[in-house]
Amino acid sequence: MENLNYKIDKIKGIGPKKKEYLNKLNIKTAKDLIYHLPRDYEDRSNFIDLEDGILGKNASFIVRISGPARIVRTRGRLNILKIPFTAGENTGYLTWFNQVYLRNSFKIGEDYKVYGELKKNGLDYEIHNPEFEARSENAKVGRIVAKYDLTKGISANELAKFIKQVIEDNKGDYEELLPEYIRNKYKLLDRASAIKNIHFPESLELLEKARESLVFEELFLLQFSLLRLKNIKSETARGIKFKQSKRLEDFIASLDFKLTAAQIRVNEEIQEDMSSKDQMNRLLQGDVGSGKTIVAALAIIRAIDSGYQAAFMAPTEILANQHYETFRELFEKFGLRVGLITGSLSRKAKEDLLGSLKSGEIDILVGTHALIEETVVFNNLGLVITDEQHRFGVNQRGLLNSKGRSPDILVMTATPIPRTLALILYGDLDISIIDELPPARKEVKTFAVGTNFIPRINNFIKKHVVEGRQAYIVMPLVEKSDKIDALSAEELYKESKSGVFKDQKLGLLHGRMKANEKDRIMMDFKAGKIDILISTTVIEVGVDVPNANIMVIYNADRFGLAQLHQLRGRVGRGDEQAYCILINTSLNEIAIDRMRIMEASSDGFVISEKDLEIRGPGEFFGTRQHGLPELRIANLFEDMETLKIVQNEVIKILESPDKLKSEEFIRLEKEAEKMLENIETDLVVN
Ligand code: ADP
Ligand code: MG
Repeated sequence: MENLNYKIDKIKGIGPKKKEYLNKLNIKTAKDLIYHLPRDYEDRSNFIDLEDGILGKNASFIVRISGPARIVRTRGRLNILKIPFTAGENTGYLTWFNQVYLRNSFKIGEDYKVYGELKKNGLDYEIHNPEFEARSENAKVGRIVAKYDLTKGISANELAKFIKQVIEDNKGDYEELLPEYIRNKYKLLDRASAIKNIHFPESLELLEKARESLVFEELFLLQFSLLRLKNIKSETARGIKFKQSKRLEDFIASLDFKLTAAQIRVNEEIQEDMSSKDQMNRLLQGDVGSGKTIVAALAIIRAIDSGYQAAFMAPTEILANQHYETFRELFEKFGLRVGLITGSLSRKAKEDLLGSLKSGEIDILVGTHALIEETVVFNNLGLVITDEQHRFGVNQRGLLNSKGRSPDILVMTATPIPRTLALILYGDLDISIIDELPPARKEVKTFAVGTNFIPRINNFIKKHVVEGRQAYIVMPLVEKSDKIDALSAEELYKESKSGVFKDQKLGLLHGRMKANEKDRIMMDFKAGKIDILISTTVIEVGVDVPNANIMVIYNADRFGLAQLHQLRGRVGRGDEQAYCILINTSLNEIAIDRMRIMEASSDGFVISEKDLEIRGPGEFFGTRQHGLPELRIANLFEDMETLKIVQNEVIKILESPDKLKSEEFIRLEKEAEKMLENIETDLVVN
């Protein structure tokens, strides 16, 4: 595809103006142009008789022009052009509004293929604003016609013309990405035919094949990129065989609750992996509050009892801190030593810490991605646990693992990733699911309301604060933005402090604050020194404040459902009934549907499946969080079956690369690298 990377202004017919318009559609190169794929199709390939047409609907007809054009002027300054025709026994008019210039386009007595909206006026048929064959060489009559996303200044016809131009300029000159034997095995089209038929389908059958081929190609490349990355990083599949831990029983007995059946089950799965000589590669999924931490703790004890160290990585400093505290509470009474590493550690403290890590004095190191820095050297790392895995990009993954000699790997996520996505992101991981919440947890009552409810919500909050409760108010923005029409946390904080909440203790928290400042605010909130915390989504993965029982989310329609669910998980951790109030500012039907899902379901898996279905993976985790390249054609829901097939094939190829001709392999590697380069892998500051 290298050869298609030339700029669009090299294409015949595209001047500076058109170039600018096309840029607005994110079309910069010839490749972008031919990969600007149709949004939909209209089948105009069937010609029908007038009496078989449905009034008010578009269809294709063949008509014979039977007389001269007439122009009718209405009182409303409209010029109607009417050209009489016959078709079999029937008579009628081709009718255009304000397009009188078309009057000389037809010859009396000749047949024309037309496509337009069928109407009836007395006995006469009318075909409104028809497209017709002789009109341009790209006549959209009698075939399957693609529809595109357009922008001002570019018509559908022009776009089709430009695309056609590129296809003609590059006749047959496409590098094939899919290995030949794969294309043969699955009877896929070569790239040139696939591209041609996706834009200008010769038949419905070929259109279907074209889509299938391009989807296959896209998913193949995606899988190749991701799996190859994993392959590179875990060449040694042989791992550590951990000894049985005698302390495990004592530890479980020391907890002030009983493990749920789901916790017991996933713990067994993990322990079994640890007993085996193969390296553990396991994803632990569980809804917010399902108790993943304890399960992780059990694995940690086992690792330490076998003489190894454990690392635990969390995506934010607040969260790393919380886990550090939790682990100290859990482990120190057993004589284990827990360390914490974050970006805000002083130099001296860091040196000391790294020293005792290297000497093996520290058993468990908790930290942010500061953990993956080169200076962090373990004595004998045997277990690596990553929390909220989806927040780390594909490239960051694995760096931590390389600090041990094939340590066992456990990744945890509270965002219940739908199976489809899990399959892609964690294709070679085993999956354990905690599908049960600890008992006695009350469901959070959720309401979606409009902005007119804000005064009532404020009173509701005040009433609960008087009763000693606390509330979160979550805002989509840190500070005022010209681009986005939504209230920011700073604005609301300022307004409320001297206004509606002047008698309450207010706090403000967002990702732009310094880490220690954030911690202080969070600790104040936890200690009850703050009644109402106005915050951005930094609290999404977060600190336990059981006394907070109200969560209000402004502009809720701007968030992913999985994210709303995660935020909602911050409340309902105490004994009081908890409430989540979603303020929806959008009248958009999809937005309203999404809010209904939140009201109706408290099951993170159901919610995230629906969200992925409605919005696609790009939006699912927030655009910058999913760590996946944009897919142009494949749909992770509809193309799940293909994905599985592709994944199997890619695994086979990576196991024995000599399945491919060497130039095929090299080409794939090159494209794979390009694909990964385009992923944004950094953590979000929110
Ligand atoms: P998450 O899966 O969201 O990480 P945590 O591990 O933080 O959840 O657990 C949430 C809370 O539930 C913690 O306070 C934890 O101590 C508590 N918890 C965990 N397991 C149980 C259980 N089986 N019974 C009662 N409470 C539990
Ligand atoms: Mg957790």
